Amino acid sequence: MRERVRARLAEQHDLVRDLLREQAQLQGSLIRRFGRCGKAGCACREGRGHGPYYVLSTRSAGTGGFTYLDAARVAQARELLGRKRRYQARLRRLRVLNAELVRLLRRYQQSLAGQGAKHVRSLLERQESKN
Ligand SMILES: [Zn+2]
Repeated sequence: MRERVRARLAEQHDLVRDLLREQAQLQGSLIRRFGRCGKAGCACREGRGHGPYYVLSTRSAGTGGFTYLDAARVAQARELLGRKRRYQARLRRLRVLNAELVRLLRRYQQSLAGQGAKHVRSLLERQESKN
């Protein structure tokens, strides 16, 4: 039991350290867009349109923004968004770990309480047999 708690504490510690390190995570999402140019007879009127164009949608502290990205920036944005996904996956793992720790500690406490009750009972029985 103690070993399992210790293992989870170690993993929790590493996770929190990694989460704190991940400063350069990107808030936002990458949106793929196709445009229509408005020229009469252009194929974009029928099909999916010109593009794709990549737009980075960011929202931080209540301010939203859209930025069009060139090809080089798209790769960068994908990398950052991948980091964000990994960050969120670590956060989810941390929640699971915390819940496991609480469950383990509760079970540990219950087993101790059970032993304590047994101990008290045997003390009382010994007491009674003396009387
Ligand atoms: Zn067009």
